[in-house]
Amino acid sequence: MFFEKFRMDGRVAVVTGGGRGIGLSCAEALAEAGATIVVIDREAGLAEEGRDTLRAKGYTVEARVADVTKTESTRAAADEIAATFGRIDVLVANAGIARSGTAAEDTPDELWLSVNDVNYNGVFWTNRDFGRHMLKAGRGAIVNIGSMSGYIVNRPQLQTYYNASKAAVHHLTASLAVEWASRGVRVNAVAPTYIDSAMTRAVIDEATLDVWLRDTPMGRMGQPDEIASVVHFLASDAASLITGATVKADAGFTCW
Ligand code: NDP
Repeated sequence: MFFEKFRMDGRVAVVTGGGRGIGLSCAEALAEAGATIVVIDREAGLAEEGRDTLRAKGYTVEARVADVTKTESTRAAADEIAATFGRIDVLVANAGIARSGTAAEDTPDELWLSVNDVNYNGVFWTNRDFGRHMLKAGRGAIVNIGSMSGYIVNRPQLQTYYNASKAAVHHLTASLAVEWASRGVRVNAVAPTYIDSAMTRAVIDEATLDVWLRDTPMGRMGQPDEIASVVHFLASDAASLITGATVKADAGFTCW
């Protein structure tokens, strides 16, 4: 009875930024549990690469191109997917970008706006546009990917724009959860620690990694599948009483 609650058979799950990294791993976890997956990414090549990786493992996966910063794109994707598949049960709003290395006082408008456009606006646009279909059906589960950076200030890298965008995701999650709680749609978030992905590999050097690991009680970075299993839990009926939560999967980072 308990294990059954983790099954996702017959459900349709959409993962933004699902072509690689954490998003791809979330897509795989939900696929393994039985869901039909729609991988969304900004570039067709990346979306198709993610789709083909999962298809090669025997899963039912489709790819779509959408830019989460463009409302005409998120709305069109949500409407088309709902029409094609007849339902949308899960949204994992994972698409995000990381930038760092610029002090707050030197931050150009474009840097602030571009990070917040993907990480914050993009999460709202997708929650709103996919959420409408869930509300119409009276059921659904949304999992937003926030960050431990929404709780703490990372060091040594400077990244006010990123940290603030992720804190906003956590509160957006709680706000939507309350509005939609009585209408069958749960909204939760996951706040990961540093995860081994293209995003961190782009910025990491030995000195930075040393500081990161010293700041982490578990003394290691996480792997994408360690976030995917939390996302799977929150998206499944096993989390039927949970909404508005941001679950820290942070190797103890925020405890110090
Ligand atoms: P990756 O950069 O590996 O993957 C992010 C994906 O999102 C890419 O496929 C990227 O495509 C896509 N994407 C970016 N912008 C858009 C857009 N406008 N529309 C649609 N898709 C877009 O990152 P991770 O897998 O590491 O990160 C995934 C999420 O987890 C992000 O929200 C990130 O902030 C969060 N996170 C990551 C941590 C980490 O240490 N890695 C820690 C905490 C949180 P493209 O290549 O075209 O940009």
